[in-house]
Amino acid sequence: MTAYQDIIEKIALEVKPLLQEGKVATYIPALSRISPEKFGMSVATVKGELFTIGDADEKFSIQSISKVFTLAMIMDRIGDALWERVGREASGNPFNSLIQLEYENGKPRNPFINAGALIVTDLMILENKDPLQDLLGFVRKCANNPEIGFDAEVALSEKMTGHRNAALASFLKSYGNLVNEVERVLDIYFHQCSLSMSCVDLSRAFLFLANGGTDPRSGKMICGPRQAKRINALMQTCGLYDECGEFAYRVGLPGKSGVGGGIVAVMPGELVLTVWSPGLNPSGNSLAGMKALELFTTYTARSIF
Ligand code: GLU
Repeated sequence: MTAYQDIIEKIALEVKPLLQEGKVATYIPALSRISPEKFGMSVATVKGELFTIGDADEKFSIQSISKVFTLAMIMDRIGDALWERVGREASGNPFNSLIQLEYENGKPRNPFINAGALIVTDLMILENKDPLQDLLGFVRKCANNPEIGFDAEVALSEKMTGHRNAALASFLKSYGNLVNEVERVLDIYFHQCSLSMSCVDLSRAFLFLANGGTDPRSGKMICGPRQAKRINALMQTCGLYDECGEFAYRVGLPGKSGVGGGIVAVMPGELVLTVWSPGLNPSGNSLAGMKALELFTTYTARSIF
């Protein structure tokens, strides 16, 4: 049991020299103020154990990791109808690319690139009277933490500078693939991205995906086993921007990253691993975080492959 603790302690030391190598996201001004020295990691097992190192309890902006929560909610609500509006193939393109959307006539490749996530947000508005409150309720339930909230400063900061997302939403609208007004969709989207959670919150919140859709602590079903399998498959193929192949090769687990520097990885049947290190590589993934996860699956000799 203490083996995981020893391993993450060793990893934290090993990745320390890499913390300065990544670049903190600057296109969202509120994120640019975060110190690249931050590093946290947590492992939550389906048996109820928790192992942490560094800044694992400090809250950060989860950004695109929130796309897993909204996807889980919408898949549960509308099932396969989702796939009429968004695909489920790897994009092989940057997360905020406009080019592919034009080639493919306004149908985003998958729900984890920004264009696809905007479709999911559009559906959240159609399906929920109060989408943000419902999302918050869902995330708090998954993490078993009623304190989780949005970071209004981050949401506002992105609203002021999120011109590319505004372009994507308008583009979707021009193809008839956005039902609600662009402003409304963007407002909800920026808030969902601003969810503020720690590594420990995220490891706990994703445990249902390591346990066939059921929270192993409460025994409550969050989604059915089939949906859990599908969400893990989508994370594996689409969760790391245009580095899904690299992540599969080096880490070998389904995962989801965000430009706040967080990455969550799921080892089905066993555990959830979350790392936070704000310095990003050119694809927008945490540079030291990728290395930390790679070292974890190397030292434990575990992966889904
Ligand atoms: N809010 C960010 C954006 O839309 C999320 C990007 C990310 O974490 O991938 O640009």
